[in-house]
Amino acid sequence: MLIPLLTEYEKEHISARQAIPERYLGLSDDEMDGRIAAARAALGRRLVILGHHYQRDEVIKFADYTGDSFKLARQVSRHPDAEFIVFCGVHFMAESADVLSADHQQVILPDLAAGCSMADMADPDQLEQCWGDLEQMLGSTSAIVPVTYINSAASIKAFCGERGGVVCTSSNAAATLKWAWERGGKIVFLPDQHLGRNTAYKLGVPLDQMMVWDPGEIWGGLEPDAVRRARIILWKGHCSVHERFTVRQIENIRARHPGVRVIVHPEVPWEVVQAADEAGSTEYILKTVRESPVGSTWAVGTEVHLVNRLAREMDPDRAIFSLDQFGCLCSTMFRVSPNHLLWILEGLIGGEVHNRIIVPDDRKYWTRIALERMLSIS
Ligand code: SF4
Repeated sequence: MLIPLLTEYEKEHISARQAIPERYLGLSDDEMDGRIAAARAALGRRLVILGHHYQRDEVIKFADYTGDSFKLARQVSRHPDAEFIVFCGVHFMAESADVLSADHQQVILPDLAAGCSMADMADPDQLEQCWGDLEQMLGSTSAIVPVTYINSAASIKAFCGERGGVVCTSSNAAATLKWAWERGGKIVFLPDQHLGRNTAYKLGVPLDQMMVWDPGEIWGGLEPDAVRRARIILWKGHCSVHERFTVRQIENIRARHPGVRVIVHPEVPWEVVQAADEAGSTEYILKTVRESPVGSTWAVGTEVHLVNRLAREMDPDRAIFSLDQFGCLCSTMFRVSPNHLLWILEGLIGGEVHNRIIVPDDRKYWTRIALERMLSIS
């Protein structure tokens, strides 16, 4: 049996994770559904459950709101009555919710092991090193605006906020890059090189003005001339789920399903976006497919739970399937189970808060500034 390696996030948090008690394992679906529904009803307006589109069906059906990171982040301030915000998603999302929440609110991640491999690819020490290197190479970093994808740790967001930078999501990435270029000639974009490249290319930046910064290399593996030429410096990070989509899959799908439309998330590699018909955030994917003509066929390049739900919703009017025949599953999103949700909710009724996410005060101020800038750009 293969034993998966722990990510940096898991190494840091797994020891702090409270194990779900055994009495919450092995329950029947009916019992879990009934008890979760009863706990939600008992907590009433004290509780808001947020569910990301990549969550499994057994969990997301209990969410008060579903959406991508951007949409869910907006829900936090819209529910000042809620004492508990249970975030069915991954760690960076719950951190953002904690930063945007009021003092009387507590944000809970049902399983603390639900991290994100992409977020782990940007470490604050590496970013400090990168900034120092850029200062040496360019003489100053005053004309560089750091932009971090929301899929990053609060410490990275705080770094960006403190240096005039911002957080973006896949929904507002293009508007955010324009915002950043208005304030500086150069952008450092992290952690997802693909979202940065795909968005900048769409805005007309040629590929030879985008450089990849490898944090594992001296000076990011770049010459000072290349850094001076770059309009955007892309951190060498990626999503292990979306990187599995390929041009070959698109060619095969087009051969097997003439007339199929291919729509992908911008976390996929650049050449996959070029081969697809459409690219956009999860919200964009849902809207585009829902508004497409009856009878159309779509191959969708994003996480499989979203694709399968959309396929069921559209059936029989439109045919929807995953671009990857095996379906790309985000294993960390999958860690949040209905068992965890039940344990969390029944704990709240009994006055116990498990798996609360608290961003330390020294990171909170600048993280909030960077997130509020994000929310102001649409
Ligand atoms: S789909 Fe990719 S970016 Fe999103 S949580 Fe999973 S690993 Fe992270």
